[in-house]
Amino acid sequence: MKQRMAVLFAFLVATTAFAQEKPIYGFTAADAAKEQALEARFDGQMNAADLRAWMDRLAARPHHLGSDYDRQNTEFLVSLFRSWGYDTSVAEYQVLFPTPKIRELEMIGPQRYTAKLAEPPLPQDHTSGQTSEQLPTYNAYSIDGDVTGDLVYVNYGVPADYDQLARDGVDVKGKIVIARYGASWRGIKPKVAAEHGAIGCIIYSDPRDDGYYQGDVYPGGAYRMEWGVQRGSVEEMELYPGDPLTPGVAATPNAKRLTLKDCPVLTKIPVLPISYGDALPLLRALGGPVAPPDWRGALPITYHIGPGPARVHLKLAFDWKLVPARDVIARLPGTDRADEWVIRGNHYDAWVNGAEDPISGQVAMLEEAHAVAELAKSGSRPRRTIIYCAWDGEEPGLLGSTEWVEDHMADLQQHAVAYINSDSNSRGFLQAGGSHSLERLMTQVARDVKDPERNISVLERRRLRQQVFASSPEQRKEARQHELIQLSALGSGSDYSSFLQHAGVAAMNIGYGGEDGGGSYHSIYDSIDWYTRFGDPGLKYGIVQAETTGRLVLRLANADVLPIDFSTFAGTMARYVDELEKLAQTERSEIADRDRLLHENAYEISSDPTKTYVAPKPDAPAPFLNFAPLQNAVARLQQSAHEYERAAASLPSDAPNASVREAELNQLLMHAEQTLTLPQGLPRRPWYRHQIYAPGFYTGYGVKTVPGVREAIEQKDWAEANKEIEVVAGVIDAYTANVDRATAIARGKTE
Ligand SMILES: [Zn+2]
Repeated sequence: MKQRMAVLFAFLVATTAFAQEKPIYGFTAADAAKEQALEARFDGQMNAADLRAWMDRLAARPHHLGSDYDRQNTEFLVSLFRSWGYDTSVAEYQVLFPTPKIRELEMIGPQRYTAKLAEPPLPQDHTSGQTSEQLPTYNAYSIDGDVTGDLVYVNYGVPADYDQLARDGVDVKGKIVIARYGASWRGIKPKVAAEHGAIGCIIYSDPRDDGYYQGDVYPGGAYRMEWGVQRGSVEEMELYPGDPLTPGVAATPNAKRLTLKDCPVLTKIPVLPISYGDALPLLRALGGPVAPPDWRGALPITYHIGPGPARVHLKLAFDWKLVPARDVIARLPGTDRADEWVIRGNHYDAWVNGAEDPISGQVAMLEEAHAVAELAKSGSRPRRTIIYCAWDGEEPGLLGSTEWVEDHMADLQQHAVAYINSDSNSRGFLQAGGSHSLERLMTQVARDVKDPERNISVLERRRLRQQVFASSPEQRKEARQHELIQLSALGSGSDYSSFLQHAGVAAMNIGYGGEDGGGSYHSIYDSIDWYTRFGDPGLKYGIVQAETTGRLVLRLANADVLPIDFSTFAGTMARYVDELEKLAQTERSEIADRDRLLHENAYEISSDPTKTYVAPKPDAPAPFLNFAPLQNAVARLQQSAHEYERAAASLPSDAPNASVREAELNQLLMHAEQTLTLPQGLPRRPWYRHQIYAPGFYTGYGVKTVPGVREAIEQKDWAEANKEIEVVAGVIDAYTANVDRATAIARGKTE
């Protein structure tokens, strides 16, 4: 009996051990087992109490760029990384950061109303009363201005909204527009308003989008209260992010700087964000046509468009000063592949206290860095160099990370393997975006991390949720059958932008969320009290985040052969080319239909004669585009990626001669993403060099994939679309040539 028990026990141990040994992409079986053991020890270091203590420290006081507490946080972060054994330094840049001197908004007719422009302290929120250190509510990089005009409501203020206004016969020229937050990055709203001749722009938070329509408001619930305001940058980051005065170069003290007058990324008109408490009297006083149904928010009024009779006066003046942005850079040199760098970052500056944005992400990264250092001390130093970056000045426009990348461009292009970014983090589901060659890596990591609420892998939980919330049976089937996580493409909005889109370093952006909800974003109520009640009570998802990004970093740092998967990128490209073809087709038939309807006078006949209706203008007929060069290039890439997969199946290997081949192969793999960039960049925006991913020219944060082609089609510039198809085909060919070289090396045939 005893003996049989022992045998049974041994069998159980063996099967359990076997069950845990899953293959890891880029590792030999033996190294995968070692890596898995290492990751188990990594998980053993996790402690939510650390995260809470650091959050209490970092979010204790307002800490925007250039503030006293931001500097104290720099020093605190340096001391932490040093105490863990990192080679730590501060990279300092002098960046433009305007703060308000004058903010005035009043309605001067038909009634008078003076906007409060202030968020009240709440007894339930212990940091909300730190008024002397809080930045006022404003939009950074709005120009100074003093304007008076009739008010027009423009919905979200995106180009399609102005098409609607034109049909209603409403012109914003010489007027002040009021737009609600949402549907685009906020910087797009004043930009499009100015393009249409508006002289000022107000942005407010409608309760439909993050206030009482969504749930109970703070402090009772998580949502935006009546006087809560979303601060934020309106830098025209779709031209370039970072310091507005030093595009393309580091903002060192002696750098050549643009004058304010010549700086293209400041707004063209003054812009100010307000609460729905301040917006209500203004919107209530509007006359003119009733707003279309999908323009209506949740305020207790009938939404009108105007213009007027509400007439407003907006006066803004800023202190246009340079302030230091201080990035904390902590380096852990690798063992045998120290020249290959895995870079990991999260910003630490906030608009106010920023417990969620960004401290929730920052403390998870700190716990990860702490655990990696502990493993190194106990003898498990990573093979490649790991660099942790705590960025400053992200909120005004990705300043710290952009200046650092511009400063170290050549080194990064030579040494960087990948950049892993995070920002705010909260309860919910894995959200992952990034370079599509990293989908296999992401999927295997998600397979190995457990969700703390449901006790299954975060991969499985995400997959099931996608099926439950699928919008069609096809989408549900896709979510069920697609083995790999489909990474979303990266636009802008956090510190990965300069790595991926300027330097061509493969990048990812990782975070959890979707169960927190709420409306504290960029307000004084993004606080420790708010976050620990609503964001991630117990900071369990902070731990899951550290386990996820920690695995990504460790696998990239220790892989025998880097886990860059050409076939997932090739498959994604094929999908994008299909999308572009359909887009061109849709544009073409819409232009033709519109032309036909105009000839039949259909717009006038079908409109209500008691209301103004202006028919759209005809467009020139759209030609057929020639997608063949791009289709051929992608077909060749798919073929080459497939061949690489076959050739690399025997790698990594324990064979004695394998390591030389692997080293050569790693060099090619780490530079693959760079072949997708061009030194001249995208049309009219040379800073953005990546030809596959960029923020949209009219969406801001929102990504435009294959932007040269896609935006040319959207703007109906057919000649440019044809030209850009050739350009992107050339880039894909260069990528494919790199894949073919990798295949030759994997087969043991070096050039
Ligand atoms: Zn952030």
